[in-house]
Amino acid sequence: MALPLALWGLALQATNAFAQFPGWQQEADYVMDVVLDTARHGLEGHTTIAFTNHSPDALDKLHFHLFFNAFRPGSMMDVRSRTIADPDPRVGSRIAELPEDEWGESTVQSLRVNGTPVAVEHDGTLLTAELTEAIGPGEQVTLALDWTAVVPKQIRRSGWMNSEGVEYSMTQWYPKLCEYDHWGWHTDEYIGREFHGIFGDYDVTIHAPEGYVIGGTGELAAPANDGTWRFEAENVLDFAWAADPDYVIASTQLGETAIHCYHQADPEFDASWEQLPDYAARAMAFFNDLIGPYPYPQYSIIQGGDGGMEYPMATLITGKRTLRSLVGVTVHEMAHSWFQALLATNESLYEFMDEGMTSYAASLCMQHLFESPESDDPHRYAYAGYMRQATSGAEEPLATHADHYTTNRGYGIAAYAKGEVLLAQLRAIIGEDALRTGLKDYFARYAFKHPGPIDFMRCMERASGLELDWYIQYFVYSTHVVDYGISGVDFDAAAGQTAIRLQKIGGMPMPTTVAVTYSDGSTSRHFIPLRMMRGAIVPEGAALESDWPWVNPEYTLVVPGEAVAVDLDPDGYVADVDDANDHYPFPEPEKSTKKERKQRRKKN
Ligand SMILES: [Zn+2]
Repeated sequence: MALPLALWGLALQATNAFAQFPGWQQEADYVMDVVLDTARHGLEGHTTIAFTNHSPDALDKLHFHLFFNAFRPGSMMDVRSRTIADPDPRVGSRIAELPEDEWGESTVQSLRVNGTPVAVEHDGTLLTAELTEAIGPGEQVTLALDWTAVVPKQIRRSGWMNSEGVEYSMTQWYPKLCEYDHWGWHTDEYIGREFHGIFGDYDVTIHAPEGYVIGGTGELAAPANDGTWRFEAENVLDFAWAADPDYVIASTQLGETAIHCYHQADPEFDASWEQLPDYAARAMAFFNDLIGPYPYPQYSIIQGGDGGMEYPMATLITGKRTLRSLVGVTVHEMAHSWFQALLATNESLYEFMDEGMTSYAASLCMQHLFESPESDDPHRYAYAGYMRQATSGAEEPLATHADHYTTNRGYGIAAYAKGEVLLAQLRAIIGEDALRTGLKDYFARYAFKHPGPIDFMRCMERASGLELDWYIQYFVYSTHVVDYGISGVDFDAAAGQTAIRLQKIGGMPMPTTVAVTYSDGSTSRHFIPLRMMRGAIVPEGAALESDWPWVNPEYTLVVPGEAVAVDLDPDGYVADVDDANDHYPFPEPEKSTKKERKQRRKKN
């Protein structure tokens, strides 16, 4: 029966509400002119934003981020880092202990909308402006801001004089318009984790004292002159830079993309930095091939910040590292270019789509660059980390907002390790080929569009022809674990066949691959799809068995001949939390002494 027209409208709206990319997004093009006063670590800035409200809603207020206000005693970042159960040692109580002349500050002196002054209210790391006249759907306005800032002593990411002696790491540093999307405004206070933002063009002029070298997002529009540096970047999420008088630059070219490496000369680590451009170019070539072509004209790897942090067309990393460590951090931050800077998922809501997917790609790239044996699963550390957490009783769902995990560890394992496993485990469900095809399709469809989990999973469905919504529902929105086991292996000599009895013990369903070894030394493999996949991509060399409805706790696989050994998931693609029941013959019953058990644990 056809729906009445009015109900059709509702049905369509409901469908759109579930689509993660709604077909529109905001646009904010920045022109900034900034003076850096190194004597007092001050910034004075004038920003013009051409803002187009592509949303279907009239906006009667605007929100901006003022990130530097996090670096003051009593800020939410300060309280959070002192009160969380497992404080990040990089922050801990450092903000609370900052002397006043090292505090950060971000203040907007004036905001004009199309030339008309608008009252603003500062509130921690946010600024709100109530508009006298709403910005209608499709309307473009010019926002003009006069602002000042005091750069904090480096605590996290931004700041002056980090522990490696880099003078200015300038990230999350300017008043930035908050994102407004189909979820509405995103006004998360800055407590130190993930970000979400609006794509736009940036034209940034920085006036620094003469002698400073500046690297960052964008291309130098003209040679730096008298301490004036002008950078332009098209269609980026953010703008970051770093300044230091002692930077030396090494560059290379990959196709249309220039790669620049900035570091302070240091005899102990110069050898690592000399080799970095070549490794970086090879890493970028690998990601271009794995995910899709990097579209920007440059990428800069800059010593600064703390640890490593990704920005569009640039990363700030600590630089006193051995070659492998320097390449490792560069590869991870560079992989973010695709997931954080180009696909630009809301990282606060779906941190695994940034950190996890980045970790997945980075693990593959490191195996490629350092030619690790193919027998080593590049994702093994992610599996081990996730499974430890999943069986600890402390796991929180992957769908938890990045800022709101109970522990730093819970966030870290979920976002990075479980997120990496989410992709790698698809090898067990749709196979490596469909996973790789789906990843390329995902980037091609959703670069510059802020996709969500459903968009990603739909690409995997298209690549495989299988139903996969259950996978996201379980793995992202629940903490159910996968645990399948062998409950019995019975040879029937009269019939000449073996019944292998399998059990679903964990809450999360998963297709099962079974490897069998027979008394005559021959082997076979069997693939048991889930019924709810509505099909199967059978792994090479495996026989397709009848499907397993997820409600059934048991399944019997009958094979001809006498099976003497059975192994579940022989490739190790499934994050099955209990390995002990995955292999027949079963391990000896626990009669061993405490000492023997301890020795065995050591060996494992
Ligand atoms: Zn990362």
